[in-house]
Amino acid sequence: MSRQIIVGNWKMNGTRQDAQALVQALVSGLPATAPDVVVCPPFTQLALVQPALDASPIGLGAQDCHKDAAGAHTGDISPTMLADLGVSYVILGHSERRQEHGELDETVREKAVAATKAGLTPIVCIGETEDQRESGEYEDVLGWQIKGSLPDGFAGIVAYEPIWAIGTGLAATTDQIAQTMSFLRAELVRQFGEAGKTIKILYGGSVNAGNAVSVLSIPEVAGALVGGASLKADAFLSIVNAAS
Ligand code: PEP
Repeated sequence: MSRQIIVGNWKMNGTRQDAQALVQALVSGLPATAPDVVVCPPFTQLALVQPALDASPIGLGAQDCHKDAAGAHTGDISPTMLADLGVSYVILGHSERRQEHGELDETVREKAVAATKAGLTPIVCIGETEDQRESGEYEDVLGWQIKGSLPDGFAGIVAYEPIWAIGTGLAATTDQIAQTMSFLRAELVRQFGEAGKTIKILYGGSVNAGNAVSVLSIPEVAGALVGGASLKADAFLSIVNAAS
């Protein structure tokens, strides 16, 4: 199996001072044989942390981007601007963006195309609600999200994040993750053929220092997208240490 990837999504948290301290602690605490590690600070902290990360193996990601390279889009940030800042990854279609900003699969797909064109690696999030999990329709939902959010020739990463597990402290069980990962792999192969076999699938949803080993040892789990626990250097480094 190729190296796992651990992505920290800082969301809308922290001052510039916090960001600098966190990055310093991560850079100095990174183990010698680390998996791929990426941090995704808020837009306002990207330029600040970029030099320290650039001098380290840790990659820099953003939490969203617009679908256009430039233009009249007040308040938005383009993938070209992110690439210009030294950003290499961008999280797209996070459930918080889908819920709070009404992002549809189609929007996410257009953003993924634009991000790739700008040289960024898109990390496209998909995931079902608690109701959809309980009613058993989650496979249909995830299948539609894959079909709708991933463009033809998708050259990025998928993050499976059950919405009910995000920020709740209640991660999906290893059985639920394993079963869903197999389903997602089959869907990716159905949609992309041979290329679907190598698309990395991350798990996200209350991954922490305590459950990282069991989550990251599930077959098909290519890494983790980490929210809350990525804001504390010790916790995030424990997750990094649990990866291979
Ligand atoms: C996330 O928001 O992507 C996430 C996985 O959050 P948490 O780890 O806090 O559940």
